[in-house]
Amino acid sequence: MPKSSIPSCYKTETGQIDVARLKRDVSITKVASLITKLVRSGTEMKGLCPLHEEHTPSFFANEAKGTFYCHGCGRGGDVIAFVQEVGGRSFLESCEWLMGSSSFCPPEQRYPVAQATAIRQVNVHRAKVEFRRGVAIEGTVVEAYLANRGLDGQVPGCIRHSWVPRFWHDDGSEGPREPAMIAAVQDVDGSVVGIQRTFLDKEGRKARRGSARLSLGQIRGGALRLGPARPEIMLTQGVEDGLALTRMFVGATVWAALGDGNLAHVALPRHVRSVTLCGDADDAGRTAVQRAREAYEALGIAVRVLFPRAGKDFNEEWLLLHA
Ligand SMILES: [Zn+2]
Repeated sequence: MPKSSIPSCYKTETGQIDVARLKRDVSITKVASLITKLVRSGTEMKGLCPLHEEHTPSFFANEAKGTFYCHGCGRGGDVIAFVQEVGGRSFLESCEWLMGSSSFCPPEQRYPVAQATAIRQVNVHRAKVEFRRGVAIEGTVVEAYLANRGLDGQVPGCIRHSWVPRFWHDDGSEGPREPAMIAAVQDVDGSVVGIQRTFLDKEGRKARRGSARLSLGQIRGGALRLGPARPEIMLTQGVEDGLALTRMFVGATVWAALGDGNLAHVALPRHVRSVTLCGDADDAGRTAVQRAREAYEALGIAVRVLFPRAGKDFNEEWLLLHA
């Protein structure tokens, strides 16, 4: 773009593009919505990733931060990076396209950061309340669900059964309650700050209507702790994988990040010195483990990695080899 054709509001004193202002004025959600359908998910917008082939949404746009991130392919960045990735354009071409696009969103119409923070706090509170309402799994659909996966026997109290709302209305009233397995997410200090809900039917199978799995409150940075914090822990992603690992490595402390995207982000107490990352044996699992390995090694934590040999994840491994 010739310098003269930069709109005056985006021209700096030296005639360059005011990139900071452009990023502030353009809505990542609007731009991403041009090519993928987004729906609200907590404080973010979620949809199928336009950058890789997928059938369940793992692409998130964060309007407050002006960023996107895909938990499937790991791509992320600001709105300019998004246009570069999607359109195969250079940085300058992407800026040019954005300045000419109709994706501007006046700041007052943005999803305000303060509002996003307030919603997060409400959801953390809801998660705490719902977790306290939960009961031991003995004799419930959760026990049946886990038994179907070869995971009978005792489970720690951080896994409970309850009837929980799938959603809350905008006025704060709750949606219908459904039976679910509840897994507690604890922050670095051990406080419950979130839950993962796995909705189940009467026979203890994953609910077919709507998403079977939904998180509530704060997940990122936290973990489901299937054992106390010790200098050495095993870290995996799913509840079932975690329970399988506690049976395969009796006495080990196993934590679950509850999602590939969080595997690299669990805030570990200071005295944890060694982490064994236990990943799924597929591309997404290996990518997540590699990212996590780099993140924890950068913190000076010793990292080992472990993948299942027979199954695609550790729950399947347990079923195939041990149960
Ligand atoms: Zn992707």
